[in-house]
Amino acid sequence: MSKARIVFCDFDGTITVNDNIVAIMKHFDPPGWEPIVEKILDKSISIRQGVGAMFALLPTSRKEEIVDYAITNAVIRDGFREFVDYCQANDIQLLITSGGIDFFIYPLLKPFPIPTEHIYSNGSSFEGSTIQILWPNPCDEHCATDCGMCKTSIIRSYDSEHYEKIIIGDSITDFEGAKLVDTIFARSHLVDMCKQLDYPYYAFETFFDIIKQLEADPVV
Ligand SMILES: [Mg+2]
Ligand SMILES: [Zn+2]
Repeated sequence: MSKARIVFCDFDGTITVNDNIVAIMKHFDPPGWEPIVEKILDKSISIRQGVGAMFALLPTSRKEEIVDYAITNAVIRDGFREFVDYCQANDIQLLITSGGIDFFIYPLLKPFPIPTEHIYSNGSSFEGSTIQILWPNPCDEHCATDCGMCKTSIIRSYDSEHYEKIIIGDSITDFEGAKLVDTIFARSHLVDMCKQLDYPYYAFETFFDIIKQLEADPVV
């Protein structure tokens, strides 16, 4: 029996050309966001703590501006529409596994036929005076990273006996997931990390590159 192909696809820097959280912070520039990024990078705080702390710097009174900016500023990478169609036509399950925030991910993915339950991201609340990030997809007992949105927990929930797992990503948050899958599609930092550890990967620039590779490589 052949395995079912399943794709775990990152959003920021992968489906979109740029990182939307960084773009929001750079644009609205609330005092104190840059030291938080440094703490995330030197791992003195977790990604969950850092992302929560950065958005807590933004007043909910600017909600409309922030949401509008995020949505209009983002650019979808070439070939994504064709990739979604390719997955549908070939019975490949496509899951979006993103450490980004619902208020920009859902509107940006709306033009594509991806069921809501296949989109994993962080949530948000604009009820208080500053933006509060919600964490509906926490780490399981195998992950101690405090990811916020835990990609490895989602990947682990699909059993490797029945699924051929494919990850598409660009960054550190995809790297732990990349260790758990059969095939890695990488760009940017994820390429450097795969090279350092001698992980086999396919480099991609557009989703057309990924379609071409998947077509060339029949299901195991
Ligand atoms: Mg990314
Ligand atoms: Zn985790």
